[in-house]
Amino acid sequence: MSLKIAVMPGDGIGVEIIAEAVKVLEHYKSNGRLDAELTNAPVGGAGYDAAGKPLPDETLALAKASDAILFGAIGGPEYDGLARELRPEKGLLGLRSELELFANLRPAILYPQLADASSLKPEVVSGLDIMIVRELTGGIYFGEPRGIETDASGERKGFNTLVYKESEIDRISRVAFDIAMKRGKRLCSVDKANVLEVSELWREVVVKASADYPEVELSHMYVDNAAMQLVKWPKQFDVMVTKNMFGDILSDCAAMLTGSIGMLPSASLDANSKGMYEPIHGSAPDIAGKGIANPLATILSVAMMLRYSLDHAELADEIDAAVGRVLDKGLRTPDIMANGCKEVGTVEMGEAVLAEL
Ligand code: NAD
Repeated sequence: MSLKIAVMPGDGIGVEIIAEAVKVLEHYKSNGRLDAELTNAPVGGAGYDAAGKPLPDETLALAKASDAILFGAIGGPEYDGLARELRPEKGLLGLRSELELFANLRPAILYPQLADASSLKPEVVSGLDIMIVRELTGGIYFGEPRGIETDASGERKGFNTLVYKESEIDRISRVAFDIAMKRGKRLCSVDKANVLEVSELWREVVVKASADYPEVELSHMYVDNAAMQLVKWPKQFDVMVTKNMFGDILSDCAAMLTGSIGMLPSASLDANSKGMYEPIHGSAPDIAGKGIANPLATILSVAMMLRYSLDHAELADEIDAAVGRVLDKGLRTPDIMANGCKEVGTVEMGEAVLAEL
């Protein structure tokens, strides 16, 4: 039976970059190496324009019926004045929660050809390849009780609750162990077990799960040290797993080590490895419609989709390698442009990857 892929370009440059990524999928369809059915659906501002809400019912139904979702980006100044529940972001958050996408995979990869784009020394980051696995639907961002209250003396206090059930910790750690098995077989669990009881439990559950993954070398690190080590010597890490808030911060830090927002893909997975795949960047209204957006983060998101949801790791490897060769040839969109390279637009970059494939 054909695999079902939902394609959601969204807004701004989302439309331009998704067009290039879809060409890669169509390429594999046409040469018979991928049996898949692609269906488009509006989301975000485009969803509001089409159906009056950022996550139209038909879009959600399609997402639920698909094996994987390729997502562009949402948002734009024309939607900023809408009521909160109609804003484009609600489309993205709605998909994450409706599909229970609890595992956020954020690779920080720095192709050696782009080492100069980082704010760190080339020898520290060149060839960097880390995968951060962030728990996405629990922890302090969702814990109850939460709020702002005024006490008897009239002073206000704000509070949130950091809570994790054993089952939540177990399922995210197993995702991370599975990924480590497909990579360098090293997993670092990041917590704050010296201060927080939740982290004590986190560590205990991760250690228990590790019994099922004897080949993976498990280590633990406090989050403050992890932040320091990421900047000091990031290449020491293979896979990192951590709770929602720590992952939010560490994954942005790791992403920026690479210095190129237009290059980084991401995935959000459910318990059955169904996933939503998207570049980490937004809809970039400042360059939308100019044909200069970098499509590589989205093309690399297709590679992640093939690897983690569609069981086609061999195609994923080909795409990753093709991107490397395009960079070797000196082709660059303006966001990663460097001396001596040739500047190209979105379509030219997409075509160059196709030519390599
Ligand atoms: P952004 O990521 O859209 O853009 C930040 C900067 O990076 C801009 O200068 C942009 O031109 C550049 N950039 C981003 N992607 C690029 C690419 N592929 N190629 C070249 N340059 C690229 O973030 P922002 O400007 O803060 O937000 C713009 C809109 O996107 C807002 O409406 C925001 O809410 C939304 N947003 C959406 C997502 C998402 O869909 N997941 C994520 C972040 C922001």
